[in-house]
Amino acid sequence: MQIDKPKEDTYLHKGMRKQLVDSLRSKGIKDEKVLAAINNVPRHFFLDTAFERIAYEDRAFEILAKQTISHPFTVAFQTELLQIKKFDKVLEIGTGSAYQSCILAEMGAMVFSVERQRELYDFVDKNFSFIKKYPMIRRFYGDGYVGLPTFAPFDKIIVTAGAPFVPEKLIEQLKPGGIFVIPVGDGNGQRMLKITKEIDHKIITEELGDFDFVPMLEGRNG
Ligand code: SAH
Repeated sequence: MQIDKPKEDTYLHKGMRKQLVDSLRSKGIKDEKVLAAINNVPRHFFLDTAFERIAYEDRAFEILAKQTISHPFTVAFQTELLQIKKFDKVLEIGTGSAYQSCILAEMGAMVFSVERQRELYDFVDKNFSFIKKYPMIRRFYGDGYVGLPTFAPFDKIIVTAGAPFVPEKLIEQLKPGGIFVIPVGDGNGQRMLKITKEIDHKIITEELGDFDFVPMLEGRNG
């Protein structure tokens, strides 16, 4: 994996990004703030140089340790469900390349992102200097099943790995009035769940389509 070279964001990349945004719009993404963030964050900065020309296709790529950067559609879909507002405190489980973290930060969120793979956690520091543009992203090496109780509660929670069930601890760390988006299912795909905690703590769950994520695993690794 060769990422640590300085990267440029050329007119060609900007043009490809605009096409990607148009294609996401035609696939049903409506939130213009989400589309603007996708337009502003250079996805090719998060990928091996070899993928530079195809970084703006709507597909997932392997980054390291068998983990992937999600499809742009998936990133846009989950972000849209979160209804991000400026200064929202967002807990993200599964930092991966930190592309999703940067999209949230670009929208003005304060991001608390947890990654369980030590290798990947360190890799982001070494290779993605772009992330320094967003001091509102805080990254943690930890287990997403535990969340970040010290920093709770959160306005929004997003899980970017396929979970076998909805972790109770994450529900506890969601503010009343908050939104929690998580793909739930087995290794053969997941249903996207949007979980809303109402002011009286009542939980409402909506199912919103099928996705295919790498698994959310127990414990830290590394
Ligand atoms: N959001 C990422 C995509 C991540 S892929 C991006 O934009 O690139 C899913 C990530 O979840 C992987 O990096 C994987 O290591 C991580 N993961 C899986 N189980 C986890 C857990 N229990 N806690 C934290 N991270 C976890």
